[in-house]
Amino acid sequence: MNGYIVSTKTSFIDVPGKIAISIIFSGCSIRCKDCHNKQLWDVKSGKLTSSDQVIKNIKENPLVDYVAFMGGEPTDQMDFLIHLCERIKMELNLPVAVYTGREFEVLPQKLIKNLDLVICGPYKKELHIGGWPASSNQRIFKKRGDQWQC
Ligand code: SF4
Repeated sequence: MNGYIVSTKTSFIDVPGKIAISIIFSGCSIRCKDCHNKQLWDVKSGKLTSSDQVIKNIKENPLVDYVAFMGGEPTDQMDFLIHLCERIKMELNLPVAVYTGREFEVLPQKLIKNLDLVICGPYKKELHIGGWPASSNQRIFKKRGDQWQC
């Protein structure tokens, strides 16, 4: 399966305390007023990339202990995101984080079941707190065993 991706980078901040490989999706239909990534709104700002290539990129970085999806809006390419999360769990057995402008409650179970961390909600400049998450309306959900905690 293929999807549109802008870049892949190693990150020490996207998942605090972890070395993450961050995969940045292009395209966002949410269009928050104060978005800092408007150049990513057009899905064609990314490059059509195969899931094989994404898995290869992750495998080539042996230090990585987390995979983080962000954008843009990763859930706008939901089928591709679900497919990648399934492959990461089955083939690499790595924990997965998703940054999304959507709320946790609307995410499909097919996606949630392969996630370990969700940072969710639209960015709002008037609620900016300059930390993690970026604005106070955004929520962080962590999976503990079979349960999610916010
Ligand atoms: S969800 Fe993220 S990328 Fe999309 S408009 Fe909002 S801040 Fe920008």
